[in-house]
Amino acid sequence: MAKRDYYEILSLDKNATQDEIKKAYRKLSKKYHPDMKDGSEEKFKEVSEAYEVLSDENKRAQYDRFGHEGMNSQGGFGGGGFQGGGFGGFEDIFSSFFGGGARRDPNAPRKGDDLQYTMSVSFEEAVFGTTKTVTIKKEVTCDVCDGDGTKPGTSKSTCKTCSGSGHVSVEQNTPFGRVQTQRTCPTCGGTGQEIEHPCDKCNGHGTVTKNVDIEVKVPEGIDNGQQIRLSGQGEPGINGGPAGDLYIVFRVKADKRFTRDGDDIHYNLNISFAQAALGDELKVPTINSSIMLTIPAGTQSGKRFRLKEKGVKNVQGFGYGDQYVTVTVVTPTKLSEKERDLFKQLAAENGEDISEQQENFIDKTRRFFKGE
Ligand SMILES: [Zn+2]
Ligand SMILES: [Zn+2]
Repeated sequence: MAKRDYYEILSLDKNATQDEIKKAYRKLSKKYHPDMKDGSEEKFKEVSEAYEVLSDENKRAQYDRFGHEGMNSQGGFGGGGFQGGGFGGFEDIFSSFFGGGARRDPNAPRKGDDLQYTMSVSFEEAVFGTTKTVTIKKEVTCDVCDGDGTKPGTSKSTCKTCSGSGHVSVEQNTPFGRVQTQRTCPTCGGTGQEIEHPCDKCNGHGTVTKNVDIEVKVPEGIDNGQQIRLSGQGEPGINGGPAGDLYIVFRVKADKRFTRDGDDIHYNLNISFAQAALGDELKVPTINSSIMLTIPAGTQSGKRFRLKEKGVKNVQGFGYGDQYVTVTVVTPTKLSEKERDLFKQLAAENGEDISEQQENFIDKTRRFFKGE
């Protein structure tokens, strides 16, 4: 299957700045997050992959030069006869042709991976904000070896396989003839160093998995699908690089009374025929308390009232939304004899000729069993 261009996936042009790449990623990863309404795991992965490459200047440079093939350091010529035959793949060939300029230095400091956590909050918690503690399983720097990977009192030694260079030379038969290629040293993974006495706690990895409690301040006015970034709360950095970030994506539960549309709140108010015809003053709940709403005489079903600035406080501090109250005039479903007479009188008063529909046997039976 043909892979889509990374820039196309993020709707960016080739000259996009890191800032634009980040923005595009945030927008799209939010949109396609599998927990979202329009979510799609496939698209989410596609967007994440594009971001992973374009946000890394080294990977991006390599991608710009060689396209998707340049990203594939393990793969051979996919589908051809070379796979698994000891053929080193593209990176090795490029390295030998171009001097390995695009190869990443394994000892360079690198930022740790970002983490993402989906947090469920109630309607009120989202509207008013709160503080919650989440427990996240993540890699943390090993406290025994301080991330070094060596047993305390010992240190790393120069890799014997590559004598510290981090790579080994291999002669290979390729479609271009016999080529001397340089490969990452299989013993040390390119670092040039070997751990002879690995730390007991982390087995030389330098990190251990741990459940970490993190206090998350849920911002007032946060909405479903929005996220915050907790800088440096992701996985620890590599070779002394900065830690990654933790993204908290909020999932806001629905409320029984109110529905939310951005910073606006919608509320449905049922009123009777009499209230609609004669007008009334009614207590209407708002997210903060309640207000008295005047229903003018002659209000039609579907009429919407706006309660200015009674909505949600904007999460970025741009004022408050409004509350909208939509009136539904409820038609009575059962009438007493007296009510029936009054409606008939009303009809007669209006000069309406009504041929009343008698309730049929089935409806009567149903009502009997429902105890109405
Ligand atoms: Zn350790
Ligand atoms: Zn080595």
